[in-house]
Amino acid sequence: MTVNILFAATDARWEDYRTPLATALSARGINAHLATDIPAPDVDYIVYAPNSTVQDFRPFTRAKAVLNLWAGVENVVNNPTLNIPLARMVDPGMTQSMTEWVTGHVLRHHLGMDAHIHNPDHKWAPASVPLAQERSVLILGLGALGQSAARTLHGLNFNVSGWSRTPKDLGPIKTHHGAAGLDTALQSAQIAVLLLPDTRATDNLLNDRTLALMPKGAILINPGRGPLIDDTALIRALNSGHIGHATLDVFRMEPLPDAHPFWAHPNVTVTPHIAAETKAATASEVIAENVYRGENALPLLHLVDRARGY
Ligand code: NAP
Repeated sequence: MTVNILFAATDARWEDYRTPLATALSARGINAHLATDIPAPDVDYIVYAPNSTVQDFRPFTRAKAVLNLWAGVENVVNNPTLNIPLARMVDPGMTQSMTEWVTGHVLRHHLGMDAHIHNPDHKWAPASVPLAQERSVLILGLGALGQSAARTLHGLNFNVSGWSRTPKDLGPIKTHHGAAGLDTALQSAQIAVLLLPDTRATDNLLNDRTLALMPKGAILINPGRGPLIDDTALIRALNSGHIGHATLDVFRMEPLPDAHPFWAHPNVTVTPHIAAETKAATASEVIAENVYRGENALPLLHLVDRARGY
């Protein structure tokens, strides 16, 4: 029997995915019709990017699941027309990419690289750099991406701790959870990395009160989602010097508008949502595996809890 799989994302993504996805499906013995233009009532699975033209799921009367190409689901999870399971992307390629991006930006701040890269006055100002074990790094969000970043930084000897909604045992990495755990964790975080989803519960998590808990001069690195941070509170904390620097990859509005104060702030680094792209080669395996599972009455991987929003 043929399984009809609609690829609902941008044309550029289709070019990336058509071959590896067809190969990954075929390797699992799935006879798939994979296309961008299958009539809605005939579609069995929707491979989906939330910026696709598909926003009304009601015509997909026999579809069994929406398989999201992105890790973040905030732009689809609350779609009232979606009444079938939604799986999000957990892609080893994306995880590696995020881990590399986070590690690079942590090392930049840990080593104080900026002072030497931008040194127009040729200032000879040696300053000693602490060892990694003397630098505390807090990872907010201990999911697929946060755990990988935490383990890698721990492997470099950083004094890593983590925070999540539910308790976690990450061996030597100290973990906190819940509201009280956040306050405790922030108090010793010289560098905080945000790898949380955008949900009602995480909106403005970093605000005047929580930023004030961090040590003076602390560094914020946000490759999670823009709404995790109250922008105006962050600007205030940067202006007062309480927060030393913010490296931001994600924003409430993207592209970040030209007039946004983040662009001009001397202690903000803006990167254009590049921390971790889904990688077609590895993500195709994840999608094909979920189609295989759907066709064989096995539980789908990485299902989103619609009530929790991630
Ligand atoms: P995940 O596996 O779902 O992990 C999410 C983590 O956040 C979990 O540890 C979860 O806690 C924690 N969390 C959620 N709500 C919380 C709350 N209210 N309080 C405390 N902790 C909470 O997600 P992921 O795959 O690691 O991805 C994380 C986010 O990264 C994505 O949602 C996306 O927004 C972002 N992202 C960005 C890029 C980029 O290029 N910038 C790329 C990919 C992903 P529990 O473990 O207790 O459930």
